[in-house]
Amino acid sequence: MQKSALTFSDGLFIQPVLGKKKAGDFTDEAIVRSYQTLIDHYYRKDNTLLSVLEYEMEYAGPKEAIHHAIMRKNFGCTHMIIGRDHAGVGNFYSPYAAQEIFREFPDLEIQPIILNSFFFCKKCEAMANEKTCPHPRCDHVDFSGTKIRRFFTSGDGDLSGLMRPEVVREIMNTPNRFVD
Ligand SMILES: [Zn+2]
Repeated sequence: MQKSALTFSDGLFIQPVLGKKKAGDFTDEAIVRSYQTLIDHYYRKDNTLLSVLEYEMEYAGPKEAIHHAIMRKNFGCTHMIIGRDHAGVGNFYSPYAAQEIFREFPDLEIQPIILNSFFFCKKCEAMANEKTCPHPRCDHVDFSGTKIRRFFTSGDGDLSGLMRPEVVREIMNTPNRFVD
């Protein structure tokens, strides 16, 4: 998603939220080490900047998406990627509520970038989404937080297509990976 957005933007500002999170989320340390590793290996140095935002997530879904956008505008961003179920929790909000609410606030001075969910397609041999890939669901590897947590807690499963090997190693080397 970030690279799709970067293709038609001048630069990419990656600013993960650090601070209190819900149990089962990655810790701040795991998040920062993962992003740093990913950027070191896979992103251009001349158009990508990593920063952090210290802020306590409220899991307020669409309202919090608007808040996040205003904060990023204040950092100088012109656009912000709003994914599926941004700042959501469980099935509390409709998965597209955080994208739809931006229509009610056309004067924010920061544009949401609404992208379809991405998956890895074994036939395309690439990250793809429903607009770009013609293959059936059985060829897709969906991004799954549950699958990722299971891999890092019990070693079960396989994250190929979901996470870069360098990032997997970095998380393996982070002792406190998950919020208790
Ligand atoms: Zn495909």
